[in-house]
Amino acid sequence: MNSEKVAITMARGDGIGPEIMDATLRIIEAAGANIAVEEIEIGEKVYLRGISSGIEESSWESLLRTKVFLKSPITTPQGGGFKSLNVTVRKTLGLYANIRPTISYYPYVSTKHPVMDVVIVRENEEDLYAGIEHRQTDEVYQTLKLISRPGTEKIVRYAFEYAKQYGRKKVTCFTKDNIMKMTDGLFHKVFDEIAVEYPDIENEHWIVDIGAAKLADTPEAFDVIVLPNLYGDILSDVAAQIAGSVGLAGSSNIGDHGAMFEAIHGSAPRRAGMNMANPSGLLLGAVMMLNHIGQSDVAEKVHNAWLRTLEDGVHTYDIFKEGTSKEKVGTKEFAQAIIARIGQKPVHLKPVVYTSKDRQEIKSWPLVRRTYKKQTIGVDVFVMWKGTPDELGAKIDKFGNDHYSFRVISNRGQKVYPNGRPETFTTDHSRCRFLVNESHSNPEMSHNEIIEILQKFTNAGIDFIKIENLCTFDGEKGFTVIQGE
Ligand code: NAD
Repeated sequence: MNSEKVAITMARGDGIGPEIMDATLRIIEAAGANIAVEEIEIGEKVYLRGISSGIEESSWESLLRTKVFLKSPITTPQGGGFKSLNVTVRKTLGLYANIRPTISYYPYVSTKHPVMDVVIVRENEEDLYAGIEHRQTDEVYQTLKLISRPGTEKIVRYAFEYAKQYGRKKVTCFTKDNIMKMTDGLFHKVFDEIAVEYPDIENEHWIVDIGAAKLADTPEAFDVIVLPNLYGDILSDVAAQIAGSVGLAGSSNIGDHGAMFEAIHGSAPRRAGMNMANPSGLLLGAVMMLNHIGQSDVAEKVHNAWLRTLEDGVHTYDIFKEGTSKEKVGTKEFAQAIIARIGQKPVHLKPVVYTSKDRQEIKSWPLVRRTYKKQTIGVDVFVMWKGTPDELGAKIDKFGNDHYSFRVISNRGQKVYPNGRPETFTTDHSRCRFLVNESHSNPEMSHNEIIEILQKFTNAGIDFIKIENLCTFDGEKGFTVIQGE
């Protein structure tokens, strides 16, 4: 082992965080982890001091230097104004890949799924977690779902490289591209493109709703699953819970400029300070960290001692089951039981073997950043309108000219004018679509024309709330058609 201690940044977090961190540090230090721990404060106390990010500026110095963060869960105070610390750290350090292995430990931990070994590779920076939300009208709120090609390429490639490194047979992609044809459609398309580069690894795509049902029912059908941020967040909790307990799964967040290791669960405030919580999730996060910093011998010792403890029936309340378990213990006693088994291996469960190949390295691949021929051919003008669609339509019918024309009004995506149906429920949030006339020799709408259109809305006393330019990229439409258009 390298005699130089590896500096890591550590935060005890909130709720059950301090207890599970103490247990984790005791275990890994007893197993010989060669680390110099730098503690920083994050979470509730920091938020309540008025720092909306949940982390002091001074704490970044340690994080940016060590580039390794072992973190307990935190409590995000309810109410507006507080930004998610997890999202901030992931984005600041570019931690684009969230790896969440979920394994069942049958028959030692009770589960309906004795054969389950699924690794969820969740995209960590994009999707609905951009946090770009607006209230646009009296009645309507909006959040932006952003999926980028480079972001998708990185996570999909990470999933296939992970499968290759660990000898996994199949990578499955989950999206909802039958509805979100552009955002999830891009994720699926990039998955198909990259899958071709890995002919030895099977690949498949499921629509996320039926895929989730299948995962909850038959997890043994899956191996590695790659998916956008929100689906990954939800389904990794489902996967961990059906494997035995949400308290059993650890996770790593890997990126170009660092790595963060944590449990997948939250701060479970109702269990705080009771010496009840299961520290396994954070401990398995720490095992991933030890591999990451090149201390795979220690990682192996810790993981095997933990497996042996499970096998010996020494269980915290969340996995304790009369008949299967032998001893119900608290957080501290569970840690002590693991420490007592350091050097031992499980007898029935498969022991882990870690080598330097298990380093979860920070990898980066060249990204092809293409430029397309982008042409603006129209604009969607969103307005707050309290009247009927026909009243709005009558006002804007004449806003066109020989170059562009008003085409259609939709409300929550459904066409309501012209020829809307009186049965369609409408809110105060309408979209008015303008497109260049196909018969015109100039196919492009200029920015000045868009300003001219907005001026017409203003002159007519209609409250426009935002616009979206309608563009083509190398001639391909960059927008969806309106339902019923
Ligand atoms: P949670 O995961 O904290 O707890 C849900 C339930 O799961 C608990 O009541 C408990 O019964 C069980 N549980 C969770 N971890 C356990 C463990 N280690 N041992 C035994 N049982 C365990 O989810 P929540 O109640 O929705 O969230 C609580 C707080 O945690 C919120 O403020 C939320 O924002 C935050 N949170 C933080 C993170 C993070 O920091 N990474 C992640 C998720 C939620």
